[in-house]
Amino acid sequence: MDAERRELTNGAIVIRDNVIEFVGNSDAAGRWLSQNNLVPDRQIDASGCVIIPGLVNCHHHLFQTLTRSIGTAQGKSLFDWLQTLYPVWGQMDADAVYISARLGLVELMLSGATTVADHLYLFPNDVRLDDEIRAARELGIRFHPTRGSMSLGQSQGGLPPDDICESEADILIDCERVIREFHDPQPFSMLRIGLAPCSPFSVTAELMRQIAALARRHPGVNLHTHLAETIDENLFCEEKFGMRPLAYMQSLGWTGDDVWFAHMVHLDSEEIDMLAATRSGVCHCPSSNMILASGIAPLREMCDARVRVGLGVDGSASNDGNHLLGEARQAMLLQRVGWPGFESSADRFSARESLELATLGGAAVLGRDDIGSLEVGKAADLVAYRVDGINHAGAGGDVVAALLTCAPTNAWMSVINGRRVLEQGKITGLDLAALVAQHNQHATRLLQKAGVDQGDNYDA
Ligand SMILES: [Zn+2]
Repeated sequence: MDAERRELTNGAIVIRDNVIEFVGNSDAAGRWLSQNNLVPDRQIDASGCVIIPGLVNCHHHLFQTLTRSIGTAQGKSLFDWLQTLYPVWGQMDADAVYISARLGLVELMLSGATTVADHLYLFPNDVRLDDEIRAARELGIRFHPTRGSMSLGQSQGGLPPDDICESEADILIDCERVIREFHDPQPFSMLRIGLAPCSPFSVTAELMRQIAALARRHPGVNLHTHLAETIDENLFCEEKFGMRPLAYMQSLGWTGDDVWFAHMVHLDSEEIDMLAATRSGVCHCPSSNMILASGIAPLREMCDARVRVGLGVDGSASNDGNHLLGEARQAMLLQRVGWPGFESSADRFSARESLELATLGGAAVLGRDDIGSLEVGKAADLVAYRVDGINHAGAGGDVVAALLTCAPTNAWMSVINGRRVLEQGKITGLDLAALVAQHNQHATRLLQKAGVDQGDNYDA
């Protein structure tokens, strides 16, 4: 993913501390080391692997791993789906948010993610953004948590129940607090805060404006929200504000290179041009868009217009997975069947373009020029996938494309900020079975508190 999109066979990467110092073939690496009188203190033989930049996830709700595949939410479109799950999420506590973040981040890391943006937008009981930050720090993943919010309850014409909304004063105070306590704008930062009112149908215009002003007082604090996800949302905005979603956001000062929107499914060509002209970013979430039948985003057209676009698993209860390499495959496949008004075409979106979406694309959307590619001076975030196993048997002709054209696998090794966090397919020092068991206890307890019929989901 360097400027020339080079692909090296028999390649080598030299890392010092948390930065890439050399990328080339193995013989050249040996010469470079001896010319510089350097002896590596550790060498890793990754024969049989493809190594790519660590994957970047630009939109997610880690807490939703607690409510995956709930029977009463299945087969529903966005607004009905949300109204089914809001009361369940309203029962969460800090421990549940911490464990669900830990589990979701582990699943993402196993799939090859090295940077994750998350959107936590409800804070019932003792829940704080700090709970998921603790999980990310323990795992050593690069993290962009966004402090979400909902203030427009049903009694004021919004979608969420009043009892899971917060007062706007409390929201602003806590946004300021998490920036002060956690945000690091420096290069190679492991944690940057974003501010993320949930959507046009769950906060007021005034809060949107105030949040934008607050973010812009702090360098590197970017703005994020859901937008143009469904036709229902477009209708809501037209009825309530007399404008389509993107025009509404622009009227609030919510476009620019410090803004990225999740979804952007229902756009016309003028809106695509507006995204490009204002340098506003987009996170494409194909699985969620398919599960909730939201539609097919005009990804091809956005990329051709040079809109900044990245990829997100979204969810986890509208995906219901956290496999970012699998999501890149979905992005590639969904574009091939086109969208209304466009012909289907097998060459409409390639595997390499989709891998770029999940690496360089995501880095650009998060406003980062220090991750997303394997280049000298970039952060040492990389992931290795074995391509000598059953999934890729017979695919030796193009092992790069095979990462997506063949069934997606988990990573064999992952390095984040120079630290090897995943070896031989396992997260270093993690008891995965214990984590899953602990997570499922929280999920069961949550559903019991909310009075949801669990069926046989957790009997095993
Ligand atoms: Zn979302």
